[in-house]
Amino acid sequence: MAETHQTKVLIIGSGPAGYTAAVYAARANLEPIVAAGMQPGGQLMITTDVENFPGFESTIQGPWLMEQMRAQAENVGAKILNTMIEKVESTGEGFRAYDDQGNTYEAQTLVLATGAQARWLGLESENKFQGYGVSGCATCDGFFYKNQEVAVIGGGNTAVEEALYLTNFARKVTLIHRRNELRAEKMLQERLLNHEKIEVLWDHTIEEFVGQDDPKSLTGLKVKNIKTGEVTDLAVTGAFVAIGHDPATKVFKGLVDLDEEGYIKVSPGSVKTNIPGIFAAGDVHDKAYRQAVTAAGFGCMAALEAERYLAEK
Ligand code: NDP
Repeated sequence: MAETHQTKVLIIGSGPAGYTAAVYAARANLEPIVAAGMQPGGQLMITTDVENFPGFESTIQGPWLMEQMRAQAENVGAKILNTMIEKVESTGEGFRAYDDQGNTYEAQTLVLATGAQARWLGLESENKFQGYGVSGCATCDGFFYKNQEVAVIGGGNTAVEEALYLTNFARKVTLIHRRNELRAEKMLQERLLNHEKIEVLWDHTIEEFVGQDDPKSLTGLKVKNIKTGEVTDLAVTGAFVAIGHDPATKVFKGLVDLDEEGYIKVSPGSVKTNIPGIFAAGDVHDKAYRQAVTAAGFGCMAALEAERYLAEK
């Protein structure tokens, strides 16, 4: 039966930002509700090894980390519901949200933490080797490619930054771009083009990610020259797809200000949106860092801001 829930803090999203906001809000006795979505846990659910989340001596698994965060939030009193929020509105007094199961949420504050999704090329072979050589994050996985040859796909700031970052580990980095001109900032382009470990493959797209099954691992790429149509092989053990991200902000359109790419706008150095009482945390507003630990930090900030806002009210 459809229910109406009342809460001081409704947290929408269940990545590191959402769960951390839940821990802080619950420990401040704000009795938060987390609308966790239908596939709770966020981007770390499709990651394998995680070595850069502080506090763990050995490598941990992304899905395990998210289970722990969820359990931690529940243990300190957060109510977590696997539900999709489909509409959110301001009521003047506070906010009202509606989920896909007919339930209503009346909230005094909102923490928007729905994250962003890396864009993928959409090839079956890309999906097959995700986590086994195909990655969407060089900062997360670059370390595993010491002295190996890797590729980065894309031509924006992210692709160029990832290629430069990967030179810290890899023997050689090939940046593969579908045009003969990069979209990235000029300064980054110069650093890329002058780097001795980086080669750029202009006017090329990916036909297939190639690998072996046992142990499951990437061994190379089939790349196509879009001007000549010629398909060639490129031997790499890692391929980083960096063709952009899509913030999950469709339901917040009209509620808070978004930038031209759909990210939630926040005041500089803060998690405050243009609407008092609504805070944004994690990849939903952050396109510079995009790390689990930074998202968790933003989640903490959002819960502290919600607490302050309620106290002032
Ligand atoms: P962008 O949208 O800027 O770039 C995406 C790149 O991927 C483009 O070069 C595009 O090619 C290419 N691409 C898109 N789709 C495909 C496809 N299907 N096949 C092959 N190539 C494809 O995304 P970014 O993630 O680089 O950046 C997003 C935003 O974040 C930007 O505003 C950027 O400036 C910002 N950013 C800021 C950073 C910072 O401040 N330090 C760091 C990283 C990002 P084409 O050029 O042909 O369209």
